[in-house]
Amino acid sequence: MQGYYHSIEHFGTVDGQGIRYVLFLSGCKLRCRFCHNPDTWQQGCQSITTEQILKDLLHYRHFYDASKGGITASGGEPLLQSQFVAELFLACQSHNIHTTIDTAGYYDQKNLTAVLPYTNAALFSIKAVDPQKHRWLAGFDNQQILENLNYVAQSIPVTLRYVIIPGLTNSLEDLQALAGLVHTLPALVPVELLPYHSLGRHKWKTLNMKYTLDDVPDATTQDVAIATNILKSEGITIV
Ligand code: SF4
Repeated sequence: MQGYYHSIEHFGTVDGQGIRYVLFLSGCKLRCRFCHNPDTWQQGCQSITTEQILKDLLHYRHFYDASKGGITASGGEPLLQSQFVAELFLACQSHNIHTTIDTAGYYDQKNLTAVLPYTNAALFSIKAVDPQKHRWLAGFDNQQILENLNYVAQSIPVTLRYVIIPGLTNSLEDLQALAGLVHTLPALVPVELLPYHSLGRHKWKTLNMKYTLDDVPDATTQDVAIATNILKSEGITIV
């Protein structure tokens, strides 16, 4: 089966446990103002088969095995190509390769239903808990995303990813809402805080698109530390 992809990273260390083969699939329906990879929004013409990926991955598998790593399907939004990811992950699991989805949750729940049986873990990003703020930041409100988050957390281990954007997502109110959301989930879900940075801005300019967060400073170590302390005081586990 063929899937549309943007790029492949053979030695990823930040998208799941251990060293990982990270497949960046193309296509995303959200339009996050801070997106680092707006060049993944369209599916384009670059495609690859599950067989090609598996062959490439098996070539490097000793690195993944030695580090308890595996494969991560990222994006873009990998779940927009759920049949492709399901077929790929089924093949990976038949070779005892650990599988992770890196998703933002904006798609029909049936996409998850197709993939979850072959998925060991999820990195799930939430841009904002407040629906209006989410709409402003990501182009759409978050109702479907929150339902999908709940659904994933019922079946596999989830790490919730949240970007600290100074002045936009790091107020006490924002972080208390995030903690409140985590407490409603059906499993213990740790939070990973990612500092906002503007390194992807040049891609927007290359694509002739207006980057609207020019006035927003990068998040500092202190911004992340403050947010960490607030979330910890709300009983949230930070990874
Ligand atoms: S979900 Fe990810 S890929 Fe899609 S627009 Fe947002 S940051 Fe970009």
